[in-house]
Amino acid sequence: MKNKLSRRNFLKTGIGIGAAAVLTGRKNMARGAEEKGKMRVVASGNGLRATEKGMELLRQGKDPLDAVIAGVNIVENDPNDRSVGYGGLPNEDGVVELDSSVMHGPTHNGGAVASLRNIKNPSKVAKIVMERTDHVLLVGRGALRFAKAHGFKEENLLTDRAREAWLRRKERLSDRDFWFPPKPEEADREFASFFDFHGTINCIAIDANGDLAGVTTTSGFFFKIPGRVGDSPIIGAGLYVDNDVGAAGSTGRGEANILNCGSFQVVNFMSRGSSPEEACLKTLERIANKSKLLPRLLNEEGLPRFGLSFYAINKKGEYGGATMWSGSRYAVHDGKENKRVPSAYLFKRKK
Ligand code: ASP
Repeated sequence: MKNKLSRRNFLKTGIGIGAAAVLTGRKNMARGAEEKGKMRVVASGNGLRATEKGMELLRQGKDPLDAVIAGVNIVENDPNDRSVGYGGLPNEDGVVELDSSVMHGPTHNGGAVASLRNIKNPSKVAKIVMERTDHVLLVGRGALRFAKAHGFKEENLLTDRAREAWLRRKERLSDRDFWFPPKPEEADREFASFFDFHGTINCIAIDANGDLAGVTTTSGFFFKIPGRVGDSPIIGAGLYVDNDVGAAGSTGRGEANILNCGSFQVVNFMSRGSSPEEACLKTLERIANKSKLLPRLLNEEGLPRFGLSFYAINKKGEYGGATMWSGSRYAVHDGKENKRVPSAYLFKRKK
């Protein structure tokens, strides 16, 4: 019990699961029940264009996996989104390495790639791994060779903006090397905030037949050790779909998520009766408790000092999202409206 986050902690620093679910969940639950069988597309906060596109394709009767992949491709192709695909921030060698997974509910099949270089749309390659091989996950050079065999063209994914961010970080890394630190006028630029920058897009959907699918795609942590693989391409961590129950996906600190099989856990909680939002919160609570065993992950108050978010849809079309710390939104197209809504949260961020 020593390592459990006490009820008092929840009350002191944020709101407990019950209260958080009440704040944003009840509305969603009621809406889902009323509109059983309706289509939904849910994504991380950077996914508003993805949910729009996904819904457009669901309305045309497209497979939910094709719908969500087409949605995230918009973000993968966007040089201004620094967390995914082209324009993504590179590893410590200045090389962009991408991770992605897809999962298709009706066939309970999945595919993934990790540490993939020079290919803009890892999510498309992940789908081909699923469809054209007897494997689930291809990595590194093998993944690149596979992509090229399927006609993907190699491109330089490092935009000037991302290269400069990498260079500035490298320059300020140490005063015991031959690199001079950034000039003062450069230090004030956005690169300062690039430390520990990371990001991902997850997108999950349910179609009019009640079939589910999902995709997660990312460039992972900025300045990661080359070869580092996050949670996004790990089925059960960054993404999980069970067509009888629901779909879940994640963004945020991948290591914490991998160690707790987060997305699987969310779907598992939904299978035992939790609403999507409750399932996300319960999973975050479990991860927060386990993090107590690793003091380097904790802030002065003994709470996780990292961000992690989950998104979920159940078989009835109810949806929800929750995050470790307050202040996030996620994207949802509920069939009527495409919007960003507040995520429930485990801990309230101090102003
Ligand atoms: N989950 C991603 C990873 O660990 C990063 C993120 O979503 O911010 O690679």
